[in-house]
Amino acid sequence: MKIAVIGSGYVGLVAAACLCELGHEVTCVDNDREKLQLLEQGAVPIHEEFLPELIAHHHRKQLRFSGNLAEAVRTSAAVFIAVGTPGKENGEADLSYVESVTREISRAINGYKVIITKSTVPVYTNQWIGQVLLLNGAQPGSFDVVSNPEFLREGKAVTDFLYPDRIVIGTNRDRPIRVMDEIYAPLTSGSYYKHPDAIPAPDHFNGTARVIFTSAASAEIIKHAANAFLAMKISFINAVANVCEAVEADIEDVCRGIGSDTRIGARFLNAGIGYGGSCFPKDVAAFRWISHNYGYEFSLLNEVERINHECRTRFIQKVRSALWTLKGKQLGVLGVAYKCGTDDIRESPALAIIQELLQEGAQVKLYDPAAMERARKVLGARVTYAQDAYEAATGADGLLVLTDWEEFRQLDLKILRTKLHYPIVVDGRNIFSPDEMAEEGLIYYSVGRLPVNARRMVASSMGRAS
Ligand code: NAD
Repeated sequence: MKIAVIGSGYVGLVAAACLCELGHEVTCVDNDREKLQLLEQGAVPIHEEFLPELIAHHHRKQLRFSGNLAEAVRTSAAVFIAVGTPGKENGEADLSYVESVTREISRAINGYKVIITKSTVPVYTNQWIGQVLLLNGAQPGSFDVVSNPEFLREGKAVTDFLYPDRIVIGTNRDRPIRVMDEIYAPLTSGSYYKHPDAIPAPDHFNGTARVIFTSAASAEIIKHAANAFLAMKISFINAVANVCEAVEADIEDVCRGIGSDTRIGARFLNAGIGYGGSCFPKDVAAFRWISHNYGYEFSLLNEVERINHECRTRFIQKVRSALWTLKGKQLGVLGVAYKCGTDDIRESPALAIIQELLQEGAQVKLYDPAAMERARKVLGARVTYAQDAYEAATGADGLLVLTDWEEFRQLDLKILRTKLHYPIVVDGRNIFSPDEMAEEGLIYYSVGRLPVNARRMVASSMGRAS
């Protein structure tokens, strides 16, 4: 099928490349000239596993990039909207990009099209998209609007798109359902998975993609509710971690204990410095806003947000309790991406913590395996940049772990110990084992677990053996 994808960001670009994998012919549109130029030259502007390979494989064959939205719509049977829906100050989703592309689409419609909303939008947006198309001259019957929310995770975006837990299709009409069926047929029939060159399946995948057909309003709520629930799971476990710290229990044992209950599940039970990224914070706020707008006060979501922000404050308090004063302290920082596997630093708790530490007068030497370029654009010369984790640790009064990159888990603790000025590690992602840190003589603070060797330091500073 000929398909247009409007918006070539984290979702649009991944969707476009993956739709090519499914055999479709895709025009990926953006209005950011610089981004288009990069894509045209074969560069991939985001860090995402398998994406460079897919783009290299399909570019100039099934995949092309374009700044001409009207032409892309005219030559396509289906049009995916994948532009941003950022949050406003009051929590409401800013739908102006969606409205703007909808107006452009309406002027280009030249025959029956299915307009598919991939962007995360509040309930009734798809209805509005239909209205705007009609108001701007599209003929009734010349289009259908379908809600098809995207659940991919950055860092695993390609795999998530091709091996989804579910595909949600929100429409009450048969004609667009037939089009959607055709688009996703290689996944729902399982034929894509038999392909020898298919992207490798994740461990938990069971053979075919499941489809959930529903109304557009339910599909819109599914996306908001899914993200709000996941954010709640993270805030819940972070709150439990706070209790663990108060009573000397171990959050990792607690997570194992509750996560093994199949009703709860082990995933998304990682205590740390809280959630971030371009989705959870804005989607929690937008879901609360739209609920309020329709008469329901979703106050649980206030608490989810409050706990999330508290994680950062508590982490900085931990850094203070490890290092006493922060002004003039040299800190090695591992990670600025909001999570591993991505270079995305939007709403990154790691970035917020770095900014707070800088404000307190600390000096930061930063290393991230993927997000250095993006960090440079935001932090500029206020921090220094290291080539690797060991360089970030060299001469540091303390090493802070802010992103859960696998690379950091593999660090040689003996080498790390020799690089540090003070043998202090404050781990906001619980990537190290307290026993191993103890063995290496490191003073180690993490989340929801007892500090290691901290008492020994206090005792020896007071001239007592511990
Ligand atoms: P993004 O900011 O990375 O990409 C959006 C792209 O749209 C940009 O490249 C921008 O230049 C382009 N754009 C804006 N206006 C345009 C216009 N008029 N014409 C053509 N292009 C235009 O955003 P994203 O992270 O890809 O998110 C897109 C949507 O998908 C959001 O609603 C988001 O909530 C949702 N979503 C994101 C993720 C994620 O992990 N990033 C996951 C699921 C859903």
